[in-house]
Amino acid sequence: MEREVQLYVGEALGAYGFPNGHPFGPDRQDAFWKEADKQGLPKKVALREPRAAHREEIERFHKPEHVERVRVLSHEGYGSIDYGDTPAYPGVYEASANVVGAALDGLEQVMSGQALRTFQPIGGLHHARRAGAAGFCVFNDCGVVIETLQKQYGVKRVAYVDIDVHHGDGLYYPFEGNAGVIYADIHEDGHFLYPGTGHDYERGTGAAEGLKLNLPMQPGWGDKEFHAAWERVEDHLRRHKPDFIVFQCGADSIAGDPLAHLQYTPRAHAHAARSLCALANDMCEGRLMAFGGGGYNRGNLAAAWCAVLDELVKGSER
Ligand SMILES: [Zn+2]
Repeated sequence: MEREVQLYVGEALGAYGFPNGHPFGPDRQDAFWKEADKQGLPKKVALREPRAAHREEIERFHKPEHVERVRVLSHEGYGSIDYGDTPAYPGVYEASANVVGAALDGLEQVMSGQALRTFQPIGGLHHARRAGAAGFCVFNDCGVVIETLQKQYGVKRVAYVDIDVHHGDGLYYPFEGNAGVIYADIHEDGHFLYPGTGHDYERGTGAAEGLKLNLPMQPGWGDKEFHAAWERVEDHLRRHKPDFIVFQCGADSIAGDPLAHLQYTPRAHAHAARSLCALANDMCEGRLMAFGGGGYNRGNLAAAWCAVLDELVKGSER
């Protein structure tokens, strides 16, 4: 393989963003791309455009009623897809289907051995639930990837690791009792931030009890506390030996994000990515997919995502 890391970018993905000054605006991909280009990263990866996910693919995770509602609202072009955070705009269905389609294309590339890792900056929409949109997230691309890994590919143990400042409730609850999903999530304590969940006592249920790790962080905590929490994530993954890693590296946990209160630097993101590459090499035949997730300070998301992409490239050369 000449270039083992695939980067999903392009106009179709950039179209996932809400209008009228919404924090999750359509300019986020461009902010990342400009910095990546400055750092010379595009030359070190293979660039790929997304495809649109088919409806049946989206419905691997979502209820058909939700998919249909998004289709109708996208056509009408106004209104709210959830209870107010996630507005409809013309083409929101197509943009959301492209986010899922890019993730599925990446998954096909990794599973067929064409790529070792992927990075998709516009993705990691971890609040969308089976029956609805939530928190700027229309379709849950990572949820579709996990369902596909389990049901189409028969992969036994998938790790989902999330360092976005918000709890990944759209992954935690649907897979809370699923013993094939090893979950680890470091986020700002739900007493202070949306969506209010992800308490440390939420450890999975039934056959999956103990397979989920939620590590709430207090407002103002930074890299030092992140590193301590990360050691627990590493131990958790080493103990439960996943076959595949899905990584949501939201940049809204970095100091200066307008929506949250943690104080990481992009070094936290680099550290997590480096560690996951090593874990993937040891346990998952290298297979790792990373998704940008949240991040509303454009400089922060550019720095954090470039740090992650750089580690994915370096981690493939080792
Ligand atoms: Zn977030």
